[in-house]
Amino acid sequence: MYNKLFTKILDSSIWLAPDQHRIVWITLLAAMDEDGNVQFASVGNVASRARVTREAAEEAITAFEGPDVDSGDPENDGRRIERIPGGWHVLNANKYRALVTKAIVREQTRIRVQRHRAEKEAFVTNVKSKSNFRVTPSEEEAEYDSVMNIPKSQREAMRSGAPKYRTGKPCKHGHTADRWTLTSNCCQCTVERVNLKRAEFLAIKEGS
Ligand SMILES: [Zn+2]
Repeated sequence: MYNKLFTKILDSSIWLAPDQHRIVWITLLAAMDEDGNVQFASVGNVASRARVTREAAEEAITAFEGPDVDSGDPENDGRRIERIPGGWHVLNANKYRALVTKAIVREQTRIRVQRHRAEKEAFVTNVKSKSNFRVTPSEEEAEYDSVMNIPKSQREAMRSGAPKYRTGKPCKHGHTADRWTLTSNCCQCTVERVNLKRAEFLAIKEGS
């Protein structure tokens, strides 16, 4: 089990409490499960786990169960824990868990976007470098292979530098065609767009 600790604990009212309270509090945070429940049968168990005296544990638990006028959190009147069968429940655990989850999702999105961008850049560099150098027979073979084994995803295509990939899934216009690696646009849509433009152009030309 792994619980995250918020930096702002250093500025919270708990950090102004006596050392033994802080030790008991950190012990509860470390011991709680994902619902914020701590399995300690009695204050004695808390004391031995936190390695403080029974009196200190009792004092801390009493303080955490009661309202805290100094708490910056108006919820539960600043009460931090409540007794549940078989232990205690850390009252704000779910709220903080939601914050952590949100932060993790944000971070994962940032990484995904960054990776996608990097792959796109690598692809462009790859294409540019290919057009700058003469293709040797072995490279030609590799090229042929990459055409024959059209990548099945945009990521795969970006890695190998293939201009197109094939998911086998239809586009929003129902074409089961290849996609351009760089834009993920449907190749058939491109063809049809070009044809339409050409027809428009010819119509205008004939009309004039
Ligand atoms: Zn299409």
